[in-house]
Amino acid sequence: MDMEKQSRFRRSLHDPDEFSLTFELVPGRSGRGKAYDRILTLARQFAEDGRLQAVSITENAGGHPALSPEVLGGEIQNMGLDVIIHLSCKDKNRNQMESLLYAWDRADLNDLLVISGDYPQEGYRGDPKPVFDLGSVQVLDLLGGMNQPLVGNGAIPLPPTSFLKGVAVSPFKRLEAEQMMQYYKLARKAAAGADYVITQVGYDARKFHELLLFMRQQGINLPVLGNVFIPNLPVVEIMHRGGIPGCVLPDHLYAEMKRESESEDRGKRARLRRGAKLLAVLKGLGYAGAHLGGPGITHGDFDFLVNESGRMEADWREFLPELDYWFADGFHYYEKDEISGLNLSEPMSRTQGKAPSVAYRVANIVHEAAFVPTGPLYEPMRKGCLALADSALRPALTNIEHLLKFIAFRCRNCGDCALAELAFLCPQSGCAKNLLNGPCGGSRDGWCEVYPGKRRCLYVRVYERLKRVGRDQEMGCGFVPPRNWALNETSSWLNFFLGRDHTGFRR
Ligand code: SF4
Repeated sequence: MDMEKQSRFRRSLHDPDEFSLTFELVPGRSGRGKAYDRILTLARQFAEDGRLQAVSITENAGGHPALSPEVLGGEIQNMGLDVIIHLSCKDKNRNQMESLLYAWDRADLNDLLVISGDYPQEGYRGDPKPVFDLGSVQVLDLLGGMNQPLVGNGAIPLPPTSFLKGVAVSPFKRLEAEQMMQYYKLARKAAAGADYVITQVGYDARKFHELLLFMRQQGINLPVLGNVFIPNLPVVEIMHRGGIPGCVLPDHLYAEMKRESESEDRGKRARLRRGAKLLAVLKGLGYAGAHLGGPGITHGDFDFLVNESGRMEADWREFLPELDYWFADGFHYYEKDEISGLNLSEPMSRTQGKAPSVAYRVANIVHEAAFVPTGPLYEPMRKGCLALADSALRPALTNIEHLLKFIAFRCRNCGDCALAELAFLCPQSGCAKNLLNGPCGGSRDGWCEVYPGKRRCLYVRVYERLKRVGRDQEMGCGFVPPRNWALNETSSWLNFFLGRDHTGFRR
């Protein structure tokens, strides 16, 4: 894209003299009403103010149906303010997603934030069918293809798009397994073409620093915007009890906010001042910018936040001891620097843990023997499966495979098996969003966002299994393509040997 055609937000990301500021707007469950008057008034004030590079617009936030982001996006863009559209993986399959992307391309809404999305919540007459056809890493791959000139369906060249691909990451995961999987997935996102990163909501300076240090050490050179979220009191309550997926508000911060709420303004000024300190610290740490947000935030609040932070900037290190809002038992990747309160560049030592489980060992032995070309059973298995390919016994092969794998892995008979890539845990039955390249941001204390306290996040279990055999780093590289639905309820063994499944492109 020509430099002059690039959005101001895009240019600011790579300008070392700019600290990008963006603000999150949340459309609701209607197409009209006073809420939109307020949103558009705020956007107009931001456009006139000039200190904000862009507003971002959420898509069905919290999993609830809401006005599509491109509607407000178009209106706000016409005011002269850049817009980032959230593209979530829920609610639409790959074709609908591509069609939507052409619409956004045509409307010049090119700056995106690609996220897994919150699990769909109740809608018209009950819960909707969850559609997680692609995960965020696969969407990045799709967008990368669309951005390439002369790449299209078959022989027909399509005009290239010019999407900017933002992604999210949380440095605020309490357990080692959750945190490491967030970082490993970020590495996959970077390899799949992410252009910039926005963090999840949290308030701990050392954890914000950890993310930058980790990215630097892993050679992930992407601009990062730290999240500065100013909650109101009802949202403080919801966040504290874990009601907003991925947002973290530990007990001592909650207690502090409760105390502040006894003041005349119900603690609003104190929450804004905390946000201003965080803003100053993010700038001091080397973040490329900050993503601001919060319910009911006015232009006056924004003005206070930015001015106050500007006054604090030079002394940002003084606020580090205050912004210590992490769990006493929470995971840190690095050793603490006792002088600054941040991190040393030395990672903490992580124990390898228990011996691998019997289930993992048995599955791995079978896989290596029958599905790795050097394995002793590979040729007999291949020949046996191919012999049945065109015979009347083919359905029997599918049924036997499904029965065995249902007992062993709760297999869903997808025909495009990714067990070997995920420590022999089935993403179709084990992950509520059927993700294939790493976790969403919604897990909490190791539990799945969708089944808190009942089902552990699949990727926590994947990490634990792989770490025991010293292979957890494998989750930080590679790419599992989306499941091919043409293979649904067919034999994945046969599809593997015929080169029809997702591993086919590697062989
Ligand atoms: S299993 Fe993990 S990755 Fe899958 S939906 Fe639940 S929290 Fe997200």
